[in-house]
Amino acid sequence: MKYSKLDGGTYEFPIGKIVCIGRNYVDHIKELGNETPEAPVIFMKPASSVVDDGGTVEIPPYSRDCHHEAELALLIGKTGKNIPAEQVMEHLAGFGVALDLTLRDVQSEQKKKGLPWEIAKGFDTACPLSSFVSRAKVQDPQNLTIRLTVNGELRQNGCTAMMIHPIANLVSQMSRICTLEAGDVILTGTPAGVGQLKHGDDVHVEISQVGTLGVSIIQMAELG
Ligand code: ZN
Repeated sequence: MKYSKLDGGTYEFPIGKIVCIGRNYVDHIKELGNETPEAPVIFMKPASSVVDDGGTVEIPPYSRDCHHEAELALLIGKTGKNIPAEQVMEHLAGFGVALDLTLRDVQSEQKKKGLPWEIAKGFDTACPLSSFVSRAKVQDPQNLTIRLTVNGELRQNGCTAMMIHPIANLVSQMSRICTLEAGDVILTGTPAGVGQLKHGDDVHVEISQVGTLGVSIIQMAELG
């Protein structure tokens, strides 16, 4: 069982499911040559894919192209189904920093074949996650800067103001598909600048008012 921390560990939540949106920033859709979807593209990562701040990401041996996607994470604090957009904030316990690590080579193959994405996005360590700060400490979650560096070099530099589906609409729509339970985590999509990670890289993400997240990367070899 994995746990998320709120306000430096004052509260701990067992992590339920991790519900994610693909293609929620226009500039990122363009860089991958995708079409802008009418409805949000929703997928999930298992809680077992979480790795804490300061941890090590293991790129599985079946991939050689792991991409970083820096994302604002939401922690659900109050269970709800069919949550109206105007009530979404009451269901959020806090905000955190996440990486939606994606095996782009594997995902592209799966997309071509019309197959699901779990093996590209749900592997162990695919979801580095910071501790959360409570909702009251973040003034405007739709105006936060997201910056990601690899070995000190700036790769992603976006703002949550650029989301296609803002948090209220996004969480409301997700809650129509599945009940969002206390302890669930939502990843809200990534701005432009995604790119490849290599063995030995140090990745650092900072979201204004929310916090920071750092992990190091190792590439796993094929088993003999
Ligand atoms: Zn993502």
